[in-house]
Amino acid sequence: MKIHEYQGKEILKRYGVPVPRGIPCFTVEEAVKAAETLGGPVWVVKAQIHAGGRGKGGGVKVTKSLDEVREWAGKILGMQLITHQTGPEGQKVRRLLVEEGADISKELYLGMVVDRVTQRVTVMASSEGGMDIEEVAEHSPEKIHKVAVDPVNGLSDAEADGLSRKIGVPEGSLPKARAVLQGLYKAFWETDSSLAEINPLILTGSGDVIALDAKINFDSNALYRHPELVEMRDLDEEDPAEVEASKFDLAYIQLDGNIGCLVNGAGLAMATMDTIKLFGGEPANFLDVGGGATTEKVTEAFKIMLRNPNLKAILVNIFGGIMRCDVIAEGVVAASRAVGLKVPLVVRMKGTNEELGKKLLAESGLPIIAADTMADAAERVVQAAAKA
Ligand code: ADP
Ligand code: MG
Repeated sequence: MKIHEYQGKEILKRYGVPVPRGIPCFTVEEAVKAAETLGGPVWVVKAQIHAGGRGKGGGVKVTKSLDEVREWAGKILGMQLITHQTGPEGQKVRRLLVEEGADISKELYLGMVVDRVTQRVTVMASSEGGMDIEEVAEHSPEKIHKVAVDPVNGLSDAEADGLSRKIGVPEGSLPKARAVLQGLYKAFWETDSSLAEINPLILTGSGDVIALDAKINFDSNALYRHPELVEMRDLDEEDPAEVEASKFDLAYIQLDGNIGCLVNGAGLAMATMDTIKLFGGEPANFLDVGGGATTEKVTEAFKIMLRNPNLKAILVNIFGGIMRCDVIAEGVVAASRAVGLKVPLVVRMKGTNEELGKKLLAESGLPIIAADTMADAAERVVQAAAKA
């Protein structure tokens, strides 16, 4: 789950990471009032969307008068902000953050991710902050310094100071940088984050260390133990199909292709998408209906896939383990009838009660294309989508 910059900064503040004073706003009037409350002489008006690169896209503006705040709040609110992370259609700006202007002497980078290889939180820091860190990683990877943190000990003083020195934090600012690194690590750990990024982390003229930006993603599997974080969710920023799917406990991700996939199990879903691509097709979505796929769930899954205007064919690929193939077959037949399915449907099922499941599909009278192996299924669905 993603949150806005201003929400990330509220969390950072709680963990002792200094951030500029700022106020989130929904209207131009609120923005002007916020600027008055903060006091000048410099304010920054910042678009709040769940994507980075806002500065380059024109969504961050440094202003020097209340009139300028009004002008830019008016321009940014409601704009369709396009950044390298939004896709070409951009994202509508519905919220702003008005914050005090900081005295930047150097922009640094600080990030944390869960590294599956080391099974630890990896802290990354670089002297090259502010710009695209992806670019730095590609062209000068030696400028990104990393520490894999021991989960028992946490981020030690020595590790924090070592990283700070490598990215050019002066000796006098080391204690402040240490508070930021350890504060972010603690925030990351306690909120079950999957990613946290402060870009830029700045050194000010007076030697302070401040987070000017904040991006935090949470592990959705751990949200049940953080109701206060769930409240920060902004559905306007999420794909409507994915929001709908999450209501039914379906793991759904919309993609660019035209072949809908309905699969049980994330691993099989990935393998199914790979196989479709192997035969020259493009998946329209990732969809894992989970272990307990009821008729209702399968029906909802069909409805969500069918909303995609690009959809040309559907492939249902089910492994019947605990889940029985006949139950899935009943669900597929009922769902196809309920939604009045018009696109070609290829079904491949293996496992428990396979024969019974196939019989139910055959006797349904629906134009379902049965397939036996995954390759067979992928080939048939790619053909069907090409013809449709
Ligand atoms: P994004 O990463 O989406 O472009 P940032 O919050 O990093 O957005 O802002 C982009 C740039 O704008 C920063 O690198 C910094 O130079 C400048 N900036 C952002 N907030 C402030 C602030 N409070 N004071 C001064 N400059 C700022
Ligand atoms: Mg940034």
